[in-house]
Amino acid sequence: MTTDTNNFDEIGDDHYSNSATNPVRSDAFELTDDEKIERIKKDVAQILTTLGMDLSDDSLKGTPNRVAKMFVKEIFGGLNPYKKPSTSTFENNYKYGEMLVEKNITLYSTCEHHLLPIVGRAHVAYISNGKVIGLSKMNRIVDYFARRPQVQERLTMQIVQELQKALGTQDVACVIDAKHLCVNSRGIRDIESSTVTSEFGGKFKEEQVRREFLDYIKLETKF
Ligand code: ZN
Repeated sequence: MTTDTNNFDEIGDDHYSNSATNPVRSDAFELTDDEKIERIKKDVAQILTTLGMDLSDDSLKGTPNRVAKMFVKEIFGGLNPYKKPSTSTFENNYKYGEMLVEKNITLYSTCEHHLLPIVGRAHVAYISNGKVIGLSKMNRIVDYFARRPQVQERLTMQIVQELQKALGTQDVACVIDAKHLCVNSRGIRDIESSTVTSEFGGKFKEEQVRREFLDYIKLETKF
């Protein structure tokens, strides 16, 4: 059993994952949000108590409840499929046939190996084959999949797959550039490094199209 545990730790530190679905159990949503909060509250209190903290202190009293609510409602709220934003599309009436890029989407996620923040930017692009999607919907899709215990590679793929499904085209791409606090603030403690992941579907696999997308990302937005 010790070997298994070591292997998992290694996998965790290398941020390895080979699947675009989160490892969620089939009974994941049998408990209501409130039931989960009640349980997690006790778990957090247990961790703090084990660490030797005095939970009767005014400053710590509310912490288990705050953390439990934050886990269920906020930072891991995207695990709940009912919270998925609607991805309704509309007809491309103005016949815009070029690439659309939504860049610098603020990204807050949580590394599932250390439960520490991933903070960065996502850049998403698609080429319409008849359907278009509201711009803010792209931000919402990024945010939804980010609000889970995540691996950056998987998150990048999930954003692309969701947009491909909604838009009915393979021509979708996503680049994420993010800092992982598990690398920046602990372990190797490298504050400067960031992780870039990309997923290019359909036409974005073509060198010229990919280049155009990457050039747009580099554009500095001044206003
Ligand atoms: Zn990590």
